[in-house]
Amino acid sequence: MSQFSLFDDRLEPAEPGQPAAPPPAPAPLPVTSDERIELSPTEKRELLEALGQRAAGCERCALSRTRTHVVFGEGNPAAPLVLVGEGPGENEDATGRPFVGRAGKLLDEVLARNGMTRSHVYICNILKCRAAEMQNGRYLNRPPAAEEISSCQPWLEEQLGIIRPLVVLCVGGPSANTIIHKNFRISSERGRWFTNSPYAGWTMAVFHPAYILRLQGPAYQAALDTLIEDIGRARQKVVELRRQLKEEQASPPRSLFD
Ligand code: SF4
Repeated sequence: MSQFSLFDDRLEPAEPGQPAAPPPAPAPLPVTSDERIELSPTEKRELLEALGQRAAGCERCALSRTRTHVVFGEGNPAAPLVLVGEGPGENEDATGRPFVGRAGKLLDEVLARNGMTRSHVYICNILKCRAAEMQNGRYLNRPPAAEEISSCQPWLEEQLGIIRPLVVLCVGGPSANTIIHKNFRISSERGRWFTNSPYAGWTMAVFHPAYILRLQGPAYQAALDTLIEDIGRARQKVVELRRQLKEEQASPPRSLFD
């Protein structure tokens, strides 16, 4: 099955034996602004694994001294849809995996409500190590410092430069502050499409599952419904972009010298 078939289902079911469509080219990313040949899914996986191994030894910021694991990211290396959160918490630091624990379980449920699993998307964070400080003998989460985020940005740039997704979803405000614009306000700009990010052609911010878990009653249900709807819109955006790319490939512009 093509890694993109999920996003084709409602448009053009793949014919039996038809070769997988090559991954489409999104807007240029800062680390891939050259006109290079698109990588195969296998090449992307190998490059991401190598990048993850390099990141595992990273000491660019002080978080390297308190982390248990670098939480690099996981999922489909050729995913057209990438979800980027803020950073690892206690569970993620302990396991080395992004979005585990209650928030991760809720995210999995929201993906499932839209017919997706983690194998259809790629999930990572803007910060690869847990930001925490010692209080009363144990480490507690704290907001990351601006310099820690900027130290970690090259890893994210390389990651997205390999995957080259069509759409990036910023999960929570801090991710949107880094990926969309620095004064991003989740309360007023959530759910809006942006096309000015250097990280992907199309970006949008959604509620963080951890935020939703702090709500109760009707407020909880309303925020959860909004997240389900937003992720559904992101999947639909991928479908539309892929259709647009196919149409453009089917009728290339005439040569200037024809
Ligand atoms: S947070 Fe990022 S920059 Fe800092 S040590 Fe971890 S991987 Fe390196």
